[in-house]
Amino acid sequence: MEKWNFEGKKGLSGSTISVRAVYNMLMARTNNKKPMLRLCRVDPTDNPSFRTTHEAPHAVATAVCSYNFNSYAPTAGLPQARRAIANYLSSDLPYQLTPENVFLTAGGAQAIDIILPVLACPGANILLPRPGYPQYDSRATYCFLEVRYFDLLPQRGWEVDLDSIEALADDNTVAMVLINPSNPCGNVFTYQHLKRVAKIARKLGILVISDEVYAHVTFGRNPFVPMGVFSSIVPVISIGSLSKRWFVPGWRIGWIATCDPRGIFQKTGVVTNIINYLESTSDSPTFIQAAIPEILDKTKDDFLSKNINMLREAANTFYDLCKEIPCLTCPHKPEGAMAVMVEINFSQIKDIIDDMDFCAKLAEEESVIILPGVTVGLKNWLRISFAVSTSDLVDGLSRIKAFCLRYAKMP
Ligand SMILES: *Cc1c(COP(=O)(O)O)cnc(C)c1O
Repeated sequence: MEKWNFEGKKGLSGSTISVRAVYNMLMARTNNKKPMLRLCRVDPTDNPSFRTTHEAPHAVATAVCSYNFNSYAPTAGLPQARRAIANYLSSDLPYQLTPENVFLTAGGAQAIDIILPVLACPGANILLPRPGYPQYDSRATYCFLEVRYFDLLPQRGWEVDLDSIEALADDNTVAMVLINPSNPCGNVFTYQHLKRVAKIARKLGILVISDEVYAHVTFGRNPFVPMGVFSSIVPVISIGSLSKRWFVPGWRIGWIATCDPRGIFQKTGVVTNIINYLESTSDSPTFIQAAIPEILDKTKDDFLSKNINMLREAANTFYDLCKEIPCLTCPHKPEGAMAVMVEINFSQIKDIIDDMDFCAKLAEEESVIILPGVTVGLKNWLRISFAVSTSDLVDGLSRIKAFCLRYAKMP
């Protein structure tokens, strides 16, 4: 037999199922009798009412037309963009971030792609939320960072199962990830809960990666509190992006911000390692970076609050209609971000074996696409995006209801 020294990398946690593969499989099953409805992707631009504010393309056009931003960007990003983001984030923090705390990335996704390998060292492990955002799992797999899961508890509004964290962690645990506002659960963590998380992380000697890609996208009781508020307790790496709040995911602009007034990342070499890693990656386009100060400065509150109102309406519509669907339970009304988790009650349903089967049959019979929970780590749940137009949401939920009525066991 021929011998080769290479092989497809075997992951440490190859358990997650690719969202894209499942999405393609479901798309292929839709029938053409009913128009296809996608309540699954969280690309806000799918919804025609979610259009970015005109200040944003204007700022980009100005940058492009100046001819000043055709060069490669500096490793950590354009200084004026780093400064603008530092100021933007600092308005929610008890202390001022400096431009040196901010590293520009090609979206929140590249921030994840950078920070996990920066932290990976032989034997290290990381704590991820379940359900969660699958990119953390796949990235961890490819840099041989062992993944351990802590649960988010639906009966407690998707709070972290704090008791389990200490049992999961050991001396090789380097970090835990928190997504706030939460994708896929749609909850927003309270100040008190975040503080408890910070204290546990401090006790364990691990840092907190706070994915705040949905920062300020909140429309319930709890306001958004950045994890950086607790960075005097534990050092925090905050991940941010324009993609979701400004509806421009295709612009590929995001950031890593180190919130660490005690300078622990400096002492432990994390900052140096981030910079070294950035040296070997591609950057967010220079002219998009150059537009950041103007976008952050000129975006009107009207634009942001109008979007929040639309999402609040959508969350209300979703929650009210979902209550009328047999066999499904939404344990927590969404109060942030753009997606929500719904449980399938298998004791009330017949002829469906699991969440994947549910979504496949729903696609075949109703041309509605929603994601099986298994793609975000929670089997036999469903992940539904409510950030779609009202008509799609109402139509989609009424088809799901008709579907569930067909499969409900007779009382
Ligand atoms: C969308 C999303 C990202 C990726 O952000 P981009 O700016 O689109 O790359 C990261 N984390 C979470 C939780 C997200 O929902």
